[in-house]
Amino acid sequence: MSEQLSINPFTGETLKSFQSHSKEEVKAILSASQETFISWRETSFQNKSELMCKLASLLRNESEQLAKLISLEMGKIFSESKAEIEKCAWVCEFYADNAEEFLQADKIDLPDGKKAKVIHQPLGCILAIMPWNFPFWQVFRFAAPTLMAGNTGLLKHASNVPQCAMAIEDLFKKAGFPEGVFRTLIISGKDASQMIKDKRIKAVSLTGSEKAGSSVASIAGSEIKKSLLELGGSDAFIVLKDADLELAVSNAIKSRMINFGQSCIAAKRFIIEDSIFEEFKERLIAGINELKQGDPFEEGVDFGCMARPDLAQELGEQVEESIKLGAKVVLGGKKPEEGSAKFEPTILTDIPPYAPAAKDELFGPVFSLFKVKDKDEAIEIANQSDFGLGGSVWSTDHDLALEVAEKVETGAMFINSLVASNPQIPFGGVKKSGYGRELGKNGILEFVNAKSVYLG
Ligand code: NDP
Repeated sequence: MSEQLSINPFTGETLKSFQSHSKEEVKAILSASQETFISWRETSFQNKSELMCKLASLLRNESEQLAKLISLEMGKIFSESKAEIEKCAWVCEFYADNAEEFLQADKIDLPDGKKAKVIHQPLGCILAIMPWNFPFWQVFRFAAPTLMAGNTGLLKHASNVPQCAMAIEDLFKKAGFPEGVFRTLIISGKDASQMIKDKRIKAVSLTGSEKAGSSVASIAGSEIKKSLLELGGSDAFIVLKDADLELAVSNAIKSRMINFGQSCIAAKRFIIEDSIFEEFKERLIAGINELKQGDPFEEGVDFGCMARPDLAQELGEQVEESIKLGAKVVLGGKKPEEGSAKFEPTILTDIPPYAPAAKDELFGPVFSLFKVKDKDEAIEIANQSDFGLGGSVWSTDHDLALEVAEKVETGAMFINSLVASNPQIPFGGVKKSGYGRELGKNGILEFVNAKSVYLG
């Protein structure tokens, strides 16, 4: 690939094109990253924190322009794009405030009177392969802890968000980070995966599809390098019969429609107890019918379009296949027009377990509804998924909700609250949703050498 195009998916207009970095340029960037690491790892926490705080202020000061880039390149409504930028500022400040404490040495008193300690040292240059769905947030939640730990970062961003990718690099420069601490590479996925073999790359973090994750992890594995994978999800949204239905329905809509359903932690499978199923469904239809589709920049619009026409097509095919296999459409269900990124919110019921709407990740505004007789069946259906990222349970009985939450096999469960990532809480999956944790204390410990020092 010699260039990457920035295309507005709502209008189809090509906004800009970016020449890919040549092999020589990649080599030079990699060398700079390695050289900078030598001094960056010695930089004090105070100095690194000041730079992170400066970065947070820049994000806030430039929020309008940065959010505009997100909405232009991937069709997210402008208010959500602005919220994404604010969250990036938050994660920078969170690690500026907490990194030093998180990385403090663990002291061990041994029974023989001797002591040992575990110190946390940076690894070096870490490659980040990132997706387009939250084009700033995904990068910042990687970068803030990774750089505060003393590593340097190289970003290979998704090919459809090159303006965001370049703007992020620019922010690090403007904040005053030494050149080489964080750089963007405009390269293909294939070239990025080859880079993993370079000695100077010490580990790789990927957020994206199962296919990309599996490919990157196998290369990293063959090179004996650490990988962190944050892949897809098919989160269960379990509504028990004693739930506050108004709360559950409004959050169901929010969780599935944020980012027009293109989120790994969006609720995807709505598992509802029999006695409240019809009411939940009717309220859901009414709520979705109230939403307004339109230009992502228009005030009052609830959703724009998907990030690329091929993603809309793929989702349309998953819905079509599910219908062929027996699923019933209660809202939407039309295939998107060829070449268009627009998609109709869709609700499916009576979905057989072998249909894509039950077993695959549907990365867009499709609600898959499942009727269950009780909480045990709800847990069983929730755990039928190959994915295990997040999930939520809705009930006014806290103990019951907790019991369900503990039995669902995922990286996170939320009770009476929609699943959301938060700098203070570790985030990541089990099963095919990946491994490793981002955010929280766990997040900063992923890319460090926990070195044991025995004091003889
Ligand atoms: P991809 O997984 O293809 O893209 C994510 C990132 O990985 C991009 O930077 C991409 O680069 C890169 N990449 C892709 N293949 C490779 C590879 N073999 N080696 C190294 N890097 C690679 O996602 P898509 O954009 O195609 O979306 C497809 C599906 O993936 C979605 O429908 C959704 O199910 C899932 N997805 C999940 C996300 C999440 O948050 N967990 C985010 C985005 C997608 P490039 O863009 O240049 O191909």
